[in-house]
Amino acid sequence: MGDTRGSFVPQRVFFEEGALSYPLGREMYDRFRGMGVVVGVIPPRGRVPGGRGLSPETSYREAKRTLVFAVRRSLAFQTCKPSAHYQLPLVTGCPGLCEYCYLQTTLGPRPYMRAYVNIDEIIERAARYIRDRFPETTVFEGAATSDPLPVEDFTGGLARAISFFGGQSHALFRFVTKFANVDGLLRLDHKGRTRFRFSVNAEPVIERYEAGTPRLDARLHAAGLVAAAGYPVGFLIAPVVVYDGWEDQYRDLLASLRDSMPARAAGALTFEIISHRFTPRAKSLISRRHPHTALPLDENERRVKMGQFGYVKYVYPDELLRRIDDLFRLEIGRLFPGARVDYVI
Ligand code: SF4
Repeated sequence: MGDTRGSFVPQRVFFEEGALSYPLGREMYDRFRGMGVVVGVIPPRGRVPGGRGLSPETSYREAKRTLVFAVRRSLAFQTCKPSAHYQLPLVTGCPGLCEYCYLQTTLGPRPYMRAYVNIDEIIERAARYIRDRFPETTVFEGAATSDPLPVEDFTGGLARAISFFGGQSHALFRFVTKFANVDGLLRLDHKGRTRFRFSVNAEPVIERYEAGTPRLDARLHAAGLVAAAGYPVGFLIAPVVVYDGWEDQYRDLLASLRDSMPARAAGALTFEIISHRFTPRAKSLISRRHPHTALPLDENERRVKMGQFGYVKYVYPDELLRRIDDLFRLEIGRLFPGARVDYVI
């Protein structure tokens, strides 16, 4: 896994053949060969080598250290309700090893990172969606199936998108990250049209469950830089995990967030708070990929809730959810007057 301040450094990099027809693909091919990383070429949509005979845990970890450069063929963007109109598909996957990662149930057993080299075509497609919805404002989400920041120092995809949205009067861009390599994005002409959201948590939760991601102080330093650069900033605190001392730890977290923010940015923050929950499928995948997990996954301590699409979720009991709601709304109101709490669930 890479340095906590910079891009991650993959151990293996594959190029789908078509990707080498694009300047970015060729540039990356030369760059990774020069870095001594294992580099290979595979057919379009071809199988990425490896994985066979490995345990689910090892195969998963191998995939997390693998980067594939590909051409995004489908330029029909997925919708992204309710927070945005469309996903902006620059990247799929994430090198992090968070045990509760929401992508575990969506990206299959070998969730290698895919970075798309046809960024111009993706941006052009976004421009068409914006024109189609004009005069309404169209909102794009850049992190629906990825954390896009770890590969940014290679691809520059976010920088391209942020600059593009800076020139749009009827579109907004947003994404969320746990990574901290923001330096290349600080001097862009973003015009306040991109909201940078940082996913953070109480330090013991990061230590226990978020391997392969930058520590809290690195994320907060990055958030402070981004706010000072004039971007709208938000914090996603997810999942809120209840353990001995959790209330004090989350109060400490909010105090650290306040200390990291320039005073003029604090009142314009947004907050999204999601309590820990799991589905039976997520539990089964987590126990195979992270067999030593200490995540609280005992159904007997939870309340059953039916998900939007008819599946079962295990959430904290109502009394605990009320305490979570009270704590965050009270402390955010006290520490960040004027900030917006989008939801506490
Ligand atoms: Fe998943 Fe986000 Fe952790 Fe990456 S940083 S593994 S996307 S939870």
